[in-house]
Amino acid sequence: MRSTRAVIHLENLRHNIRSVQAWAAAHTPGPADARPKLCIAVKADAYGHGIVEVARTAADCGTEYLAVATVDEATRVRDADIDLPILLYSLPDTSEIPEVVSRGITPLVTDAGYVDALARESRAQGVRTACHIKVDTGMGRIGCQPHETLGLAQRIGSYPELHLAGVSTHYPLADDRDVSYTRDQTERFSSLIRDLRAQGIDPGLVHAANSGGVLRVPEGYFDMIRPGIMIYGYYPARELERPISLKPVMEFRSKLVFTKKVPAGTPVSYGHTWKSTRETWIGTVPCGYADGYVRMLSNAADVWIGGARYPVVGKVCMDQFMVDLGPGEPPARYSDVILFGPAPEGSATAPPDAAELAELCDTIPYEITCGLSSRVPRTYTG
Ligand SMILES: *Cc1c(COP(=O)(O)O)cnc(C)c1O
Repeated sequence: MRSTRAVIHLENLRHNIRSVQAWAAAHTPGPADARPKLCIAVKADAYGHGIVEVARTAADCGTEYLAVATVDEATRVRDADIDLPILLYSLPDTSEIPEVVSRGITPLVTDAGYVDALARESRAQGVRTACHIKVDTGMGRIGCQPHETLGLAQRIGSYPELHLAGVSTHYPLADDRDVSYTRDQTERFSSLIRDLRAQGIDPGLVHAANSGGVLRVPEGYFDMIRPGIMIYGYYPARELERPISLKPVMEFRSKLVFTKKVPAGTPVSYGHTWKSTRETWIGTVPCGYADGYVRMLSNAADVWIGGARYPVVGKVCMDQFMVDLGPGEPPARYSDVILFGPAPEGSATAPPDAAELAELCDTIPYEITCGLSSRVPRTYTG
């Protein structure tokens, strides 16, 4: 196996699931034993961590639901014999509806056309399909308008082949410093649910809270919470308080495959954007932007070798990048290089994590872990 790989720490995944479950149980409004169900997002190959292994670990930890963005993702989970309910967060192509029905995937429906197509296909296959309504209360992405919810629920109710199993919405600002919009949105959604019940409709499972909501808006827990990024060890935004113990699950590592001593004034990599200012050792790491170590990290990020940090120098190339190892005795050739990951137990120093790299790239940790390409083998530990 190549030296550049992602090591997925399943012990940290289990730790994060337990931390989030304990936090939600402790903050749920209402009776002391009330606890929302847990739906873990495993879309985008489980945020880059590997959908099958993450789904299996989540199932072992008592997760009640999984969520994906595409029908192919759901199919991979089903093919691995994991039979938890799977919510389909995004809209499928019409050509994929037969598979949604035959694989028992639970779609979030947004409109009459989608409902009708699901009913037709379910009738053709002789099955009853559970669906959840998605209401747009402020995200502006997919979902029916709030005033259309009742009509959509009645339409689902008119089809014996369909079953309304839930009603959901999504928070665009739950990770904002100011939670007042999310509280207001939650109140509007609650009142919509009350209206449905007043019309004699059982909404099934009501859910809204992504990681930001889990952390900050307990009144938005309803019957189920839907975290993603916190399960993988990161907070959804940097400036938030950090009261939940989370550990990065993904470790991106490689090896020092080449070292050389160079004199002052030696330029490194494409464009010669960096030049040594003294005699120093330069190390080469066989990992590049084609692996997901993005070019924005050029002359910006640090890597961690044997407990010390070293700066990336020059432009990151497609398949390789260089680090300045300093003038002293360099780390041995083939030393492990940690690009980002959890702090090793008992170590006085820590490698960068995906949030640190995200900040250098003006993005969020989600994009860093999702960005590891399929060229990077995933290995599992813990
Ligand atoms: C991805 C997603 C989530 C999880 O979001 P995080 O910010 O990772 O917690 C929840 N709900 C929906 C609809 C999503 O698309």
